[in-house]
Amino acid sequence: MCDGALVTYAGEATLIEAADRELHVDGFLMPAVADRHVHIGLSDPASVLAGGVTAVRDLAWPADRIFTLADASEMPSFEGPLIRAAGPMLTAPGGYPTQDGWAPPGTGREIKDADDAGAAVEELARLGAAAIKVSLNADAGPTPSDAELAAICDAAHAADLWVTAHAQGRGQVERALGAGVDELAHTPWTRLTDEVIHTAATRIRIVSTLDILSFGRDTPEIRTALDNLRRFQVAGGRIVYGTDLGNGSIPPGIHLREARLMVEAGLEPEEVLEAMIRAPLDPDAPADLIALAGNPLEDLRALDDLRLVIRAGRIVTGG
Ligand SMILES: [Zn+2]
Repeated sequence: MCDGALVTYAGEATLIEAADRELHVDGFLMPAVADRHVHIGLSDPASVLAGGVTAVRDLAWPADRIFTLADASEMPSFEGPLIRAAGPMLTAPGGYPTQDGWAPPGTGREIKDADDAGAAVEELARLGAAAIKVSLNADAGPTPSDAELAAICDAAHAADLWVTAHAQGRGQVERALGAGVDELAHTPWTRLTDEVIHTAATRIRIVSTLDILSFGRDTPEIRTALDNLRRFQVAGGRIVYGTDLGNGSIPPGIHLREARLMVEAGLEPEEVLEAMIRAPLDPDAPADLIALAGNPLEDLRALDDLRLVIRAGRIVTGG
């Protein structure tokens, strides 16, 4: 049962007294999906929402565009998911993604020194950043120094923001852990030692983004990433669903292949669903719901057969 944008009751239908409007759905009702790594500017927000994803976290886009869009997405009538955004990725001068074709100017914010790093975080916090993204992509150029990385983490934590890192290249996950980074924006596809995996499992969470390493094929990168994620999962590490939408041919909406790769990494279907949802279906949860034709706990392919999408109490499709 929902009142406006919030769930007020979830349970036996017989216990509901009276409702202004009833919706009968033949299917599996569950909370809608949140994609915690997207670049929404490279996709179509309306298709994302119609595909069952009612909330996204954008992890790198120019500040002047993404925060305006994030503000607009607060409206329940917005034709797209709720957007939370990191703004630009903090990086070294000339570092990733400043030289990359997918990233418009302003997608990377070049850090001059440790003071500038702190100032950049404070500025993003003022603009409404939901997290701070830092580029530790040593394969694609220079990365912030250890002092700059520490300043980024300190300033972010002082503003109650998490730091999420694109860690790529030998030794970069170790640097992230040492500096106090809270999350890896991708499952690493460089092999991590058991020692690093165990430290990571107690300190950080990982956003899956597995399918961008294979797009349905078998590649050395996906094998290494699955091996890292399996050991991280066994060590008790927390994994959340994210697709890196906007990168290559990831489709808008719920991405079944990402969910299946999470099962390959050792998660039970129930754990995959928990990693995908925006919030559990409890009173005061956002009224963001989906209904599937089948039961995804029996067969994850049910995620590809949507019957209903509701965002903030508004029926988007179905019903
Ligand atoms: Zn990304």
